Amino acid sequence: MSAGVSSLEILFHSIRPEQVENWIQILRDEGLEFTPVYRQPGQGPTGARLAVVWMPPAQLFHDEDRLEVVFNVGAGVDAILEANVLPEQVDLVRLEDSGMAAKMAEYVIHAMAEITRNMGQFRDAQQQRAWASAEHVYTEDWPVGILGLGVIGSKIAAGLASMGYPVRGWSRRQRHFDGVECFAGEDGFNEFVAGSRVLVNVLPLTPETRHVLNRDTFGNMLPGGHIINIGRGEHLDEDALLACLDDGTLAGATLDVFTTEPLPHSHPFWTHPKVVITPHISGTTNARLAMRQIAAKVRAWRAGTPLTGAVDRRAGY
Ligand code: NDP
Repeated sequence: MSAGVSSLEILFHSIRPEQVENWIQILRDEGLEFTPVYRQPGQGPTGARLAVVWMPPAQLFHDEDRLEVVFNVGAGVDAILEANVLPEQVDLVRLEDSGMAAKMAEYVIHAMAEITRNMGQFRDAQQQRAWASAEHVYTEDWPVGILGLGVIGSKIAAGLASMGYPVRGWSRRQRHFDGVECFAGEDGFNEFVAGSRVLVNVLPLTPETRHVLNRDTFGNMLPGGHIINIGRGEHLDEDALLACLDDGTLAGATLDVFTTEPLPHSHPFWTHPKVVITPHISGTTNARLAMRQIAAKVRAWRAGTPLTGAVDRRAGY
């Protein structure tokens, strides 16, 4: 990456434009000196070399032909790469954790409590003013497999392991984490799945990972299995999930992401008794930590020093 020392223009774009003022304020509070620029309807390119974006339109990359680096205000870059419009020479940099990993670990631990302890029964009992009782739940009976052992998946794995769950993890390259049984690549997938009663998906969406949660995967899990999907909707074959819930192959699913978002009003997930849904909120963006991280990366880029979080375009994440 190259950098200059003249006044830095940063192009801002968000699908939620009301966020941008806050981003700029935080970057300024961090002491970053820059001039914000915006795309205006009917006007030509801004000429900016650097952009901070969330869900930008493909046209932005067609028009802004002086861009050198794009900072994505999110961990997943699938939408940008799928559009296939980012010129090869433009570097794409993603968020690394910036407060999302702990929130997503919290989401998964909450889901595990709901699933393993069947917490819904106590809400029902409360409605009846009934003082229900419960048997001890042995965490060792609930091995959890985490698909994706990156910045977020490794934090989820550590959180679950600290609570006594047997934790397994799957990644592209072989990883090693204390307290986590690690599997890698296509060769390790079946063994990884076969020992898991719950699967937590936190993979990036790439051509290799699309529909990784499918009928074969569900059929290979330990009996009474649950799916927790907090990656992307397209990791999951939704029809296969419904079929496997209905025929008893799976016991339940907790879903935060969907093939179509917002989830269409007529979708069977809304009312399915074995499905819990949340509206893509497992890892909301912590704007303060995100902009602090981007400020540090912009400084590194200007200084010509290496920065982390650069997307490997060939791997797709
Ligand atoms: P990282 O890039 O840090 O980690 C990705 C992990 O997935 C790595 O362990 C990687 O393997 C593994 N992986 C990638 N491709 C494959 C493959 N083909 N086979 C097996 N393993 C693979 O990403 P993050 O942890 O930061 O984020 C992961 C994803 O979580 C994001 O891409 C996004 O889609 C999703 N997300 C969802 C949010 C939500 O609100 N629902 C919020 C934030 C993120 P290796 O270790 O070998 O590189």
